[in-house]
Amino acid sequence: MVEIDNSLMGKEYLEMAFERCIKCSTCKYSYKTFEPSCPSGEKFLFESFWASGKIRTIRGLLNGDLEWNDELKDAIFACPTCGACMDACQAPHADYIVDMIEALRELAVKHIGPAQNQEKLIERAIKKFNPYDEPNSDNEELKKKYDLPDKAEWVYYIGCTSNYRQQSLRDATLNFLKKASINFTLIDEHCCTSPMIRTGQISISKEFMNYNIEKIKEAGATKVITSCAGCYRTLKNDFKKFGIVYDFKLYHTCELLKELIEKGKLKFKSNYNKTVTYHDPCHLGRHSGIYEIPRDVYKQIPGINFVEMRRNRNHAWCCGAGGGVKIGYPDWSVEISQERLEEAKETGASIVSSTCPFCRTNLSDANEKFNMGFEILDLIEIIDQLEYDVEI
Ligand code: SF4
Ligand code: SF4
Repeated sequence: MVEIDNSLMGKEYLEMAFERCIKCSTCKYSYKTFEPSCPSGEKFLFESFWASGKIRTIRGLLNGDLEWNDELKDAIFACPTCGACMDACQAPHADYIVDMIEALRELAVKHIGPAQNQEKLIERAIKKFNPYDEPNSDNEELKKKYDLPDKAEWVYYIGCTSNYRQQSLRDATLNFLKKASINFTLIDEHCCTSPMIRTGQISISKEFMNYNIEKIKEAGATKVITSCAGCYRTLKNDFKKFGIVYDFKLYHTCELLKELIEKGKLKFKSNYNKTVTYHDPCHLGRHSGIYEIPRDVYKQIPGINFVEMRRNRNHAWCCGAGGGVKIGYPDWSVEISQERLEEAKETGASIVSSTCPFCRTNLSDANEKFNMGFEILDLIEIIDQLEYDVEI
């Protein structure tokens, strides 16, 4: 038995690989639709790619039955950490399967390195504070454009994907917050480090998290809102794992929208006469337990024909962008989204909507690459197209 290095963040999760998995294979299928639910296993069709096999890999490596070698890389890193296995598994370790996979990756990075190209995520973040290799924005121009103060009750934490790849989503969020007269500001952000945490490259995470918390404190905010499901999950769940505590209230955009509708403060004045289906982001759904809130908002939009895909909520098929798959396995990543869009076709929807800029990116890439003919929009972009009265 190989001793687990005490310096590992995910040590406790690696230990769960012993005695807990009963090799029943329940993690391979949705228990609602009995359809395949694991993009990794379905692509590579070899036991070590499903969650059950990943757990066996941990056990083998720690037992000394397996030796570290590059051939293990795909089985460890070709997985969008979607969490469908956590939802399907009925054993006591179920809720921790993705934590176990991320801990395995942390260990793998030390022994064989990350999958191809994933090292760029952390290299770029170290140099430019974002994983996209973009010159880092301190958001001062946006603050000027939207006439935002230095100190405010709310901080809109934009996140790297919205700020550098999905600016229409970012701008729709800014328009809404401004129109609602919310007292908010922006900070000079560092990446929340979700892409690094998912790929086992966690050396900078704590420093970046502390930096962001410090900036939020400097802004005097007691509430933080983000339009990114990945940032939301990281702030909500991962900060705790790294021992970072904060006392601000965290919102995803959809939570604010729902709250305002319920209080009668957001009233739509125009119709949206289109058929829309919703793709559950894994970060917001399975990893944060938010399924009904965005649906409640869509259903309040006048004129909308809201339809569900066959696999929805906790049974949703992943978009394929997360877990480092988009950068490590780009062709396969869009194939996963292609399968999601084929499912969306069955609903008759013309709009595929989500609440995550990363899902928006990958669904849009698949939509374009495979000529699927959809319009891909975030919920807040739909709201941005409507006329409404809002007051806080
Ligand atoms: S991970 Fe859970 S569902 Fe999968 S084989 Fe093990 S016990 Fe069964
Ligand atoms: S996280 Fe998703 S892709 Fe990875 S093993 Fe679990 S179900 Fe499969």
